[in-house]
Amino acid sequence: PRRVVSGLQPTGTLHIGNYFGAVRRCVRLQDSGDDLMLFIADLHSLTTHQDPDSLHANTLELTAYLLASGVDPERSIMFVQSSVARHAELCWLLACLATNARLAHLPQYKEKSAKMKEVPIGLLLYPVLQAADVLVYRGTHVPVGIDQLQHLQVAAQLVRTFHHRYGRVFPTPQAILSGDGSERLRSLRDPTKKMSKSDSDPKSRILLSDPDSVIELKVRKAVTDFTPQVTFDPESRPGVSNLVMLHCLAEDKLPEEAVEEAEGLTTAQYKRVVASALCSAIRPVRERAARLLERPAVLRDVLRLGAARARVRADEVYEDVATRLGLSATV
Ligand code: ATP
Ligand code: MG
Repeated sequence: PRRVVSGLQPTGTLHIGNYFGAVRRCVRLQDSGDDLMLFIADLHSLTTHQDPDSLHANTLELTAYLLASGVDPERSIMFVQSSVARHAELCWLLACLATNARLAHLPQYKEKSAKMKEVPIGLLLYPVLQAADVLVYRGTHVPVGIDQLQHLQVAAQLVRTFHHRYGRVFPTPQAILSGDGSERLRSLRDPTKKMSKSDSDPKSRILLSDPDSVIELKVRKAVTDFTPQVTFDPESRPGVSNLVMLHCLAEDKLPEEAVEEAEGLTTAQYKRVVASALCSAIRPVRERAARLLERPAVLRDVLRLGAARARVRADEVYEDVATRLGLSATV
């Protein structure tokens, strides 16, 4: 089977972009028989400052939301990134093959570093750690959003460089794009931007923890345009089209079907349809997560078991890699 590797940062409650664009896709891959390794990317989250208590709380919260979304810890391996030291160890080996020029040119780095006075090296290394996350399990497939495609290209290049110098050890990881538009849901306040956890405006995103009334409010306030009809045209009408997309993802339908359903409705009326579809899709996840969060010991057990299973896989690959490089630590 394919080995799918994916990670989510514990930087705050998941929004529906993370859910439809990442979590639910992983769950569907798991359910269709892929070997899924899903980790909580706490090392990645340290590239921007995290309050230690919040980081800890966010890690447990994310665990609850992942389980609530259908991740099955028996079939899949779910764990915290920092509990498998091989991620960071392989990252160092790969960092020695990466170049500053290549990494500094990546759009996400440019975007995030532009806002900082002092740019941590970890932010530059982020894609190298991502490559390590996948390669340390010989991952074959990575479900990505459009925002991550270039990072996967960095991984592919590192694999080539590694093979050239030391021989074949890693498969080149392939991107899995969903093709349903879920890779880039847009901000509700500025549809030219993607929906993001780090956006300063909380109304720009719908959280998985939002109660129905808040979902309704945020959809009602979503920025659209001055055309009252509902059409699907992401280029010229990004705001309305984003609502159509959300409607489709919530009810597993195609844009044509959603637009047909919206015939005769104004965008204001259509927003009520979208809000109600989102409420129905998200409510069960929110309720399951709330119940799981009452049992933190169970969540910790899941993570502990997942880490133990992940370590076995990572050790095997890392030892192979270290031997090729001539490192003697394992002999
Ligand atoms: P941040 O702003 O802190 O980077 P984020 O919202 O981008 O937060 P991440 O933790 O970086 O969230 O990403 C988690 C996963 O969600 C990734 O697989 C990413 O591709 C996906 N993702 C993030 N934003 C969106 C979005 N707007 N639409 C679809 N998928 C998204
Ligand atoms: Mg992001």
